[in-house]
Amino acid sequence: MKNEYSSYLSQTAKEIQPSGIRKFFDLAASMEGVISLGVGEPDFITPWNIREATILSLEQGYTSYTANPGLLELRQEICNYLYNRFDVTYNPKNQVIVTVGASQAIDLAFRAILNPGEEVLIVEPAFVAYAPLVALAGGNPVPVSTSPENGFKVTPEQLEAAITDKTKALLICSPNNPTGSMLTMDELIELAKVIEKHDLIVISDEIYAELSYDETFTSFAAIDGMYDRTILINGFSKGFAMTGWRLGYIAAPLELVEAMLKIFQYTTMCAPHMLQIGAVEALRNTYHEVEEMRKSYQRRRNYMVQTLNEIGLDCHTPGGAFYVFPSIRSTGLSSEQFAEELLMAEKVAVVPGNVFGESGEGYVRCSYATSMQQLQEALKRMQRFVESRKMVLQG
Ligand code: PMP
Repeated sequence: MKNEYSSYLSQTAKEIQPSGIRKFFDLAASMEGVISLGVGEPDFITPWNIREATILSLEQGYTSYTANPGLLELRQEICNYLYNRFDVTYNPKNQVIVTVGASQAIDLAFRAILNPGEEVLIVEPAFVAYAPLVALAGGNPVPVSTSPENGFKVTPEQLEAAITDKTKALLICSPNNPTGSMLTMDELIELAKVIEKHDLIVISDEIYAELSYDETFTSFAAIDGMYDRTILINGFSKGFAMTGWRLGYIAAPLELVEAMLKIFQYTTMCAPHMLQIGAVEALRNTYHEVEEMRKSYQRRRNYMVQTLNEIGLDCHTPGGAFYVFPSIRSTGLSSEQFAEELLMAEKVAVVPGNVFGESGEGYVRCSYATSMQQLQEALKRMQRFVESRKMVLQG
């Protein structure tokens, strides 16, 4: 055995960078009294009826494997949900896979469609996992930068400009992590024209579908002509407050699902049985709780946007998810400096925008999935920090 493990590692493993979010949060976790606006997860505990159904399933001994794509009962509920909420029709028998989080669903999608060197357009700022997952699948992630002038929404022109003869797919995430932007139906229709023209596949990450505040959410698969091109990704983590359950799903055209299922059956076999029983309950009987959580996030979003603008951090109004993405340019600091200095001076953790791609520089992501009381205290501290920066800038 050599002393150096590096010679045993694959080139891909060496090249993958650790998540910029984790790096930062290990630092915050080592300090006392930090208010974190950093993590992308609900502050609610999973509704009781979901937990109870899962406890009962254990008592009843549901501890075996399920069918590879998941319990048929759950796939049926997922199809009912997608139809009732978003008007898209899938066959539970062969068009759905229950995965270990939306994370795994995205991984499967890339692995099933990419040949070495093929390009995936990733609208940035973007969730940190997309580009590494494309690379792990042998593809080439190509960023498409958006700007605050368009509310961080990708335009058809920006898409056109990024397409090459190697482009295979486009990944869109609406409502978006980290910007909170949500594409309207009209905007999706415009993007669809470019997708059709260039014959692309779309991976639509709809994990924040339940968290939209001003407009009705439109699934990309519901756009005219897009059903056959869309791999729809969704899950239970965000809308149902079930991050730790690690349950997500894919719904897609039959042949694509068959390809993904081949990979899934060897890598994972199936998602945990008892948790799938909890997910059935989530889709059947949690409408009221999900709506209450949504309203609570909406109140907090309104508070955050108004207060950040008042303290001099310009902030567009995000249509969904639970993030705000204010500009920190007025402080004269880079995103990373801002996040680090704010943490050290005032013990508030935010995520520097540059970890979500180059176009995120000049911004920070603040999650408002934390109590109103904590948000108020965090913004008081941020105001103090911004004022102190003003003094420095004024010399
Ligand atoms: N997509 C986006 C945009 C996310 O923000 C997250 C979680 N932060 C995921 C996917 C992963 O979700 P899951 O917990 O279902 O794996």
